Amino acid sequence: MLSGRLALVTGGGSGIGRAVCQVMAREGARVVAADLNEASAKETAALLASAEHVGVPLDVTSEESVAAVVRGVRDRYGAPADCVVNSAGINDDSFLVNMIAAQFMKVLDVNLKGTFLVTKLSTNAMIDAKIDGSVVNIASIVGKVSSIGTCNYSASKAGVEAFTRTAAKELGRKGIRCNAILPGFIDTPMVAAMPEKVMKLLVPLIVLGRPGRPEEVAELAAFLASDRASYMTGASVEVTGGYGI
Ligand code: NAP
Repeated sequence: MLSGRLALVTGGGSGIGRAVCQVMAREGARVVAADLNEASAKETAALLASAEHVGVPLDVTSEESVAAVVRGVRDRYGAPADCVVNSAGINDDSFLVNMIAAQFMKVLDVNLKGTFLVTKLSTNAMIDAKIDGSVVNIASIVGKVSSIGTCNYSASKAGVEAFTRTAAKELGRKGIRCNAILPGFIDTPMVAAMPEKVMKLLVPLIVLGRPGRPEEVAELAAFLASDRASYMTGASVEVTGGYGI
């Protein structure tokens, strides 16, 4: 499905991002796993078991860091990535009444500004190289349905969805499609850090009765990145097991 394609996956060292790297490599793409945690990015590349895949350090909040990775990909492979998946993300929950501005902004910085920087610089590189491409942004169902303790995270993810639609509209004529995925509760280190009593309340609200697996999100990311989704752009697709319907 992705043979001949070159993928850049942010947050590629863990959870959904790592699963995206694995599914995209299985589908024939060469993969650059990029993560704040360089060791985990390299670990992902090692799991893919071929020298054509690499793990690199990346801080999505830093324009210099994003530019260095985009440049590094072009130098190494002779072309920019034509599949970009923005999976780097953080949460830092607390009730609205207790949330401090720095905590609010930190989450927006990684989730929203990071998605902007990586999308901007990587699609500029596609346009310069005159190649078509696809961007997949990992948003969240809690950007759409209400949630408690996540006003920073929910706002950032609603922003990612809106950003994706505008990017799709501006970049469509350049041959670049942009889509968002809205996962529900997926079994990753991010969700493992949630208090058990919260998970006990949440799981009964999931129609399929269980959290999702990272690869269940990754399969959709690979499809959206591929030509099989050639007429999809500006879409937000839910992978929630029925949570929030
Ligand atoms: P995860 O396992 O914590 O993976 C997130 C990865 O992003 C980590 O490797 C993290 O590195 C990296 N990261 C954090 N800040 C970064 C930065 N500034 N620059 C580059 N990389 C950075 O979480 P996940 O559950 O796979 O989440 C992946 C995406 O899915 C996130 O955008 C998340 O919001 C979204 N999502 C997850 C769920 C879920 O239920 N799991 C649901 C909806 C949406 P460190 O480990 O070093 O921090």
